[in-house]
Amino acid sequence: MILVVNAGSSSIKFKLFDIKNPENPKSLVEGLAERIGVDGKLIIEVNEKKHVFEEQMIDHLQAVQLILSKFTELKIIEKPEDIKGIGFRVVHGGDKIVNTVELTQEIKKIIEENIRLAPLHNPGALTSINAFQESLPKAKLVGCFDTSYHQTMPEISYMYSVPYKWYKDLKVRKYGFHGISYDYITYKAQEIFNKNKEDLNLIVCHLGNGASICAIKNGKSYNTTMGLTPLAGLMMGTRSGDIDPSILQYVSKETGKNVFEITDMLNKESGLYGISEISSDMRDVVDAASKNNEQAKLALEIYTQTVADFVVKFVNQINSKIDGIIFTAGIGENASNIRERVAQKCGLLELSIDSKLNDQKYGDYLKISSTDSKIPVFKVRTNEELMICKETLKFL
Ligand code: ADP
Repeated sequence: MILVVNAGSSSIKFKLFDIKNPENPKSLVEGLAERIGVDGKLIIEVNEKKHVFEEQMIDHLQAVQLILSKFTELKIIEKPEDIKGIGFRVVHGGDKIVNTVELTQEIKKIIEENIRLAPLHNPGALTSINAFQESLPKAKLVGCFDTSYHQTMPEISYMYSVPYKWYKDLKVRKYGFHGISYDYITYKAQEIFNKNKEDLNLIVCHLGNGASICAIKNGKSYNTTMGLTPLAGLMMGTRSGDIDPSILQYVSKETGKNVFEITDMLNKESGLYGISEISSDMRDVVDAASKNNEQAKLALEIYTQTVADFVVKFVNQINSKIDGIIFTAGIGENASNIRERVAQKCGLLELSIDSKLNDQKYGDYLKISSTDSKIPVFKVRTNEELMICKETLKFL
């Protein structure tokens, strides 16, 4: 079996896969250990039945041990050693990690060095890697990085127009994120379009709580909206996306808040939440807008306009025939009204959405554009955990 792990500073999300048939890994169990270091709650879902354990977890090591012991208790595994490989989602690999890698001492050092670029994400991953290494010393530990997919971007995409020495001395550049999702979509697109990876040109809109768009040219990331950090690009649940950088100085001077406090507000109190003053959750904002709440309506207009503007820009940058525009992640997969509004706002591209297909239930993917659309449009379900599992398998 392979365990896929996505850890934060106080939580560990996991999914266990049966890999008896390596061509088709089967998800057995998923769950979440949360409130680590506070009190502790572990949820394990097997066959659509939820088991909840409220037990103390003082740190990640205790959380990992609790997860493994509950797996045995619930007879999901016979013994912890049945888990042969563990695939970790790691957010920031900087510019040194371009592929999935085995988590050696050297790689762990790189993850640690990149804490300065991803202070909210990398520490949790590192702590949980150490905890699993201690608990399952024989398992193969593998890291999949959200940044590595974008290491194919050309300089023209990743350089900022700032003093060059910031790049040389501080590694200030665009890294991009959601790479595991884009990697999965590229893999799935081979099946959807019946083409080799190298022949695919796609615009993928990953619209979840965090949101970004990737221009995929010849099967590789050519440009993306997130930057040095996940704060850049699109408007998101609570993140601002691109803004005038001078806002920082101005708000600081006017309010007395420092740059860290203001950046925190750009991360946690902006976006859909900031403008609607209702919620960061798209469903709540859509609901409020349908009841004529003006700020909610404005939030949706700005949200869809920003997505559309980047889609048009990236189509222009790819500058050759596009196989498809793909919507994915929580909002992209489910919110038909948002997809429709984005397509309408891409006026120059002459997209046409079939509203019946747009609303229709679907499995892995569905084309939602009508035959007269200049570029086909799809909704595709992403599967980051399956991608990590498949990558981990390569190391076993
Ligand atoms: P995360 O970035 O946390 O993985 P998800 O990909 O799960 O986020 O996406 C969460 C977002 O998807 C939320 O804003 C949620 O409101 C939105 N979402 C989920 N289902 C729907 C739906 N049926 N209609 C509109 N939005 C939805």
